[in-house]
Amino acid sequence: MKITGDQQLIKKMNKTIVLNTIRQQQPLSRADISSVIGLNKATVSSLVSELIESQLVSEIGPGESSGGRKPTLLLFNRSAGFAIGVDIRVNDLLAVLVDMEGNVVREKTVPLEDYSPGKVLDQIRKTIRGLMRRLPASPYGVVGIGIGVPGLVDEKSQVISAPNLGWDNVDLYEALSAEFGSNIHIDNEANAGAIGEKLYGAGRDSKDLIYLSIGIGIGSGIIVGGDLYRGTSNFSGEVGHMTVAENGPLCRCGNRGCWETLASEKALLDQAGTLWKDHSPSLEDILKEAKQGNEQVLTLLEQIGSQLGVGLANLVNILNPELIVIGNRLSLAGDYLRQAMLSTLGKRSLSYHRKQTHVDFAKLGIRSTALGAASLPITAFLAEPDVSVTEAALNS
Ligand SMILES: [Zn+2]
Repeated sequence: MKITGDQQLIKKMNKTIVLNTIRQQQPLSRADISSVIGLNKATVSSLVSELIESQLVSEIGPGESSGGRKPTLLLFNRSAGFAIGVDIRVNDLLAVLVDMEGNVVREKTVPLEDYSPGKVLDQIRKTIRGLMRRLPASPYGVVGIGIGVPGLVDEKSQVISAPNLGWDNVDLYEALSAEFGSNIHIDNEANAGAIGEKLYGAGRDSKDLIYLSIGIGIGSGIIVGGDLYRGTSNFSGEVGHMTVAENGPLCRCGNRGCWETLASEKALLDQAGTLWKDHSPSLEDILKEAKQGNEQVLTLLEQIGSQLGVGLANLVNILNPELIVIGNRLSLAGDYLRQAMLSTLGKRSLSYHRKQTHVDFAKLGIRSTALGAASLPITAFLAEPDVSVTEAALNS
């Protein structure tokens, strides 16, 4: 049978729709899929057979019958393959090996001492190889790799600038694809974090959400209508550099009074510095004192919370999001920041805008970025389920 280009494309699209329906609504029967997506049963059955043959879908025991023979239910085979996500942080790398549904199978944290691109790349390669060793048996193995970078990444996956690492124009894609294949995705860490929380964390049920990555700086990933908003040059989301105090502290970007000079982990550490006589405190030192009821520390955390609220009010007024998720390091201080943050947000945002906005701390904790990064190659892989033997045979 000769299949024209258009027919092939339509078939491929239908197959992706069937696969995504199974992933989202499993377990369900062939008849369920047919009624959900409106394709006739014969077409659904034939596409499901191909997905079963390519081991992306499996059958489980019969489900509830509405009279007559009980239908066989279908499940997405989450162990059909794996992906690796790497979060390049300021002091270390966090790498996860996940199944096709983002469940962490193995995890590794590797300290970074030398931030030169060559040294970091060596560490990334070593870490990936380590995770790939003793991989559980699966039809597809590792389908790809995603990397979250604390900096600007353009649409061609080039790291244009990562100030905290001292990087300019670093090509991670080229360096990694030579060894690990072409399904490699490099993205900004806050964008990856937003995708991670949307797929697997606090944002599962939200279409319009802002993920804030608050560490040394403040970055964001903005999801509009279910998709990441990337901007014209792929550089959207630098909310940490919106001006909130005209003559405020000098920012690393050269401007004064950027939001991150007043509300980031670094702002907290800088301001806490005067309370510690013998050494510069870490976030962990600060949290320990807060837990013991140190009034000065609690007041400082409240101030940071209130400054967070100022920026949140701007975001709520401009974007009217359903959900704001606060992630990365500062989310560890969530219990001490929350009240002041929400109170300032309440006072400073427009009432109709904030009415339906929820603010939450990241459900995935410090894994939002690594998990979001790992999801990028999985999404790309599953958008091309024609890697199957069936399709190749059909075309020959
Ligand atoms: Zn700035």
